Amino acid sequence: MNDDRQTLLKALEFHGHRCWASVAGVRVGLAALRVLEVKRSGGRQLHAFVEIGEDHGGMCFGDGVQSATGCTLGKGNLEKTPYGKLAVTVIERASNRAIRVSYKPTLQKQIGASAFMTKRGQGIEPDDIPEAEQLELVDLIWNAPEADILTLGEVFQFERDWLPEVIGFVPCGACGELTAKAYLRVVGEKHVCIPCSGYER
Ligand SMILES: [Zn+2]
Ligand SMILES: [Zn+2]
Repeated sequence: MNDDRQTLLKALEFHGHRCWASVAGVRVGLAALRVLEVKRSGGRQLHAFVEIGEDHGGMCFGDGVQSATGCTLGKGNLEKTPYGKLAVTVIERASNRAIRVSYKPTLQKQIGASAFMTKRGQGIEPDDIPEAEQLELVDLIWNAPEADILTLGEVFQFERDWLPEVIGFVPCGACGELTAKAYLRVVGEKHVCIPCSGYER
């Protein structure tokens, strides 16, 4: 099995079900890595801005992007630019070289007419849909020629001064829970977490 297919299967396992939008996310992510000639971000070498918003269909795209690029919520190298769009900009931090890749509408009619989406429309949860019907859409997106489904932008320079990580946790002076140093607030003599401080942020 080739490495890309392995990446796809890992992404789907992490995501929790097999769907077209997560596969689209994997494909844009892999395309971005290839054009930038970079590997998956093991640390914070890469940074991504994903354009999905909140509470809309197809947000699964974001999990595909995270899995393929290694730009993740947990590492803090993934941010949302909430336009409700299926696109991502990936940046190599060392060089600030960036590329935006978006997913084209080419297959949306076929996707809409599929057994999977018909059942989603009836309110059936994606992981309760038969596996064969999940895989039908996975393969449709996965096997499509790249030029049919992706728009690759030009590589450009992304201007940003990247902030270093502030390392270290300290127990809150009031509740005792571990709190990242940058998030401690000073109240009187004590260094406390935000909820204990009464501040909003
Ligand atoms: Zn999904
Ligand atoms: Zn506290």
